[in-house]
Amino acid sequence: MCGIFGISGHPDAAALAHLGLYSLQHRGQESAGIVSAHQGEVHAIRAMGLVSDQFSPEKMRTLVGPLAMGHTRYSTAGSSTIENAQPALVRFKGGHIVLAHNGNLTNAPEIRDGLEAEGSIFSSTMDSEVIVHRLAKARAEKPEEKLAEALEGVEGAYSLLVIVGDTLVAARDPFGWRPLVMGRLNGALVFASETCALDIVGATVEREVRPGEIVAVAADGAVRTLQRTPAPELHRCVFEYVYFARPDSRVFGGSVDRARRALGRRLAQEHPAPGADFVFSVPDSSNSAALGFAEESGLPLELALIRNHYVGRTFIQPTQSGRDAKVKVKYNPVREILEGKSVVMVDDSIVRGTTTRGLVALIRAAGAREVHMRVSSPPITGPCYYGIDTPDRGQLIAARHSVEGIAKEIGVDSLGYISLDGMLGAVPDGPEGFCHACFSGKYPTKPPTVPEKLRLG
Ligand code: AMP
Repeated sequence: MCGIFGISGHPDAAALAHLGLYSLQHRGQESAGIVSAHQGEVHAIRAMGLVSDQFSPEKMRTLVGPLAMGHTRYSTAGSSTIENAQPALVRFKGGHIVLAHNGNLTNAPEIRDGLEAEGSIFSSTMDSEVIVHRLAKARAEKPEEKLAEALEGVEGAYSLLVIVGDTLVAARDPFGWRPLVMGRLNGALVFASETCALDIVGATVEREVRPGEIVAVAADGAVRTLQRTPAPELHRCVFEYVYFARPDSRVFGGSVDRARRALGRRLAQEHPAPGADFVFSVPDSSNSAALGFAEESGLPLELALIRNHYVGRTFIQPTQSGRDAKVKVKYNPVREILEGKSVVMVDDSIVRGTTTRGLVALIRAAGAREVHMRVSSPPITGPCYYGIDTPDRGQLIAARHSVEGIAKEIGVDSLGYISLDGMLGAVPDGPEGFCHACFSGKYPTKPPTVPEKLRLG
């Protein structure tokens, strides 16, 4: 998964992109990059690691120009290396192309094979690079038309920001898989994965980039839009509401906080926990859902688990050993709250079960008498091919075990997941128009022929 931010028409464009990336850090922590453009010149900084560590004032001074874009990366296609850090930048005889991508292109391997057969030389293992090559070859005149041409036949999920010359272009795939919003800051146009990144720079939210829409902002501020053939239905990723986006954001036009609270309330209706003493969340991603559960059930909400904020997201670690060690480093239970109590632990999802098993052990060791777990998304039984890192079915605990089996595996007294219908009915603008393939197995596209090759690295 990734976060993208772009701004055109502001003298401090790169500095604002930097700020915006702070608000998109949760979408990717492996690498970060900012590229600025001015009168045919481009300047780039890309580095592994966190936004706060990479962009010193000296480096930032090199990023001149009124046009900039930034990217935070969490690899779902291609390995975690500096060559794969974005924004991708190529210089060629037609000028330069800069690209930042959030999503996963399901037919990138086939397109890449075709391009390589024609002589293209790739410099990364990212799926996104195929769009850069296609763009360089596009014959259309205007940047937005070039992008439309380059995206012909490209399948899968993409929210994109592209710089062609001095034009900033934003695009979403016709199914609307990943979010992308557009805002204004005085005269400047701003695009971001989530509205929290517009808030931090003081921009006002104008609207979503529509599914299948391409928006181009020329150097003089003129905005042109191009609507590609609409898809018969939308496949917005419901997991953005469940887990990925920040609760202070609006995505797909709806409030993430409201969505999570509604999920928590619905969960409490479907799987109450009578007799429990209190509810607590696995911070931070399930805080709002736990609040919803507490509101609906009438149980008090306690802060029974403390998260160390200086440790990154547990799951956003490319290897299993990295994940295991981090559970204890990241969470510590409050014994004074838990001792002797029957407790409801609310989390937004169970993926591999590694974090959850570790957490339950911690909660019991802190003296809890009974641990009842409630989950605000249904069992994840399949991989995501559209940008969330849940690639191998074999690693998904719910693909191998029944709910009772999972309860045993993770060591809880009871386990309740929200139903698929319950989840889709609770999120804003549901139940139609969402991709829920990882829960339901209903993949809206044919699965990639070579899923492993999605991870090209
Ligand atoms: P696990 O122990 O592997 O089941 O991980 C579950 C935890 O990972 C939950 O607390 C979720 O909030 C979090 N999580 C779920 N999906 C993802 C994801 N794609 N990336 C990062 N973290 C995730």
